[in-house]
Amino acid sequence: MKNNKLVTRNCPLCNSNEYRILLVLKEDHFTKVNKSYILSRISELNLNADQDYPIIKCNKCQMIYSLYCLNAENENLVYERIIDHDVSRRKIMAVNRRRYDVGVWIGLLDRLQVYGTEHLDIKIVDYGCGWGTLLLAAEGPGVKAFGFDVTSWKINWAREQGLTIFDNEESLAQEAPFDAFYCTSVLEHLNHPREALQTLAKLLKHGACGYITAMIPFANSSEGWTELNKRISSGLPLPKEINPWEHLNYFTVDAFRRLLSEIGFQLESEEGYCRFLPATTQKNDITLDVTNGKLFNNQPNTQQLLSEFKTRDLLQNLLLRLIQR
Ligand SMILES: [Zn+2]
Repeated sequence: MKNNKLVTRNCPLCNSNEYRILLVLKEDHFTKVNKSYILSRISELNLNADQDYPIIKCNKCQMIYSLYCLNAENENLVYERIIDHDVSRRKIMAVNRRRYDVGVWIGLLDRLQVYGTEHLDIKIVDYGCGWGTLLLAAEGPGVKAFGFDVTSWKINWAREQGLTIFDNEESLAQEAPFDAFYCTSVLEHLNHPREALQTLAKLLKHGACGYITAMIPFANSSEGWTELNKRISSGLPLPKEINPWEHLNYFTVDAFRRLLSEIGFQLESEEGYCRFLPATTQKNDITLDVTNGKLFNNQPNTQQLLSEFKTRDLLQNLLLRLIQR
């Protein structure tokens, strides 16, 4: 029983509509366990409380996703009215949250250093920045931080902390290209995650490094889904992350890696560090472009180009010396 408050989705990775069902949720399974929800407001969504929410697996590419998403009006209601803003804000004040934000930034600094950026002069973008706490950990001498999000109450708070946050992609694009990026807890929420990554990719320098997360604990293995089914049949509570109003996509490591690489992101660690190296401007192509005199066609990472020049010069010198012998 479905009404027009729900939108039926095709596979967000391959667009197929052939699937098998892994799990069927009811509203109570994911609302009652969610301490951020104001339960008394759920009736504002005008949904049938007995509605089925199947979580399915694509027959063609094995992507796991929610068959339905809320229509735009109801999705807005969930984020603006049903989620308790104060409860949400209290979470970012936790010590562990600070440790996480700083730890992610240190991991990114390590990667920037490996690629020769010892004197920092970079721009970083957080695509779907929420409260902007990752940017607050990153901003400082040599680091210009920019955020993009659409949740008004989070953006307002982030701006009060002095961050530059855009709520439209056109304004964000004016600050591009970026050397580093974050995109955490975003792709699992979106009806069209591929399109979002493509938009992010257009903002990045060749070789930009970043941190992208989208995997949900429990949901990234087949054992996890068996366990979730057992919990439902035994009447046990589910992890609050299994929630088809907010989490539309349940990536496995394989599906996540595949989506990233199709757009040009190479995952360097399973925690989420990756590098933007799109196929059209990978090493061989850059060398070809150099001979054609078209060096900076995609504003590639200057340090990387320099190291390639160094390698080429070394080889040329070596050849010259051999010839002169
Ligand atoms: Zn698929």
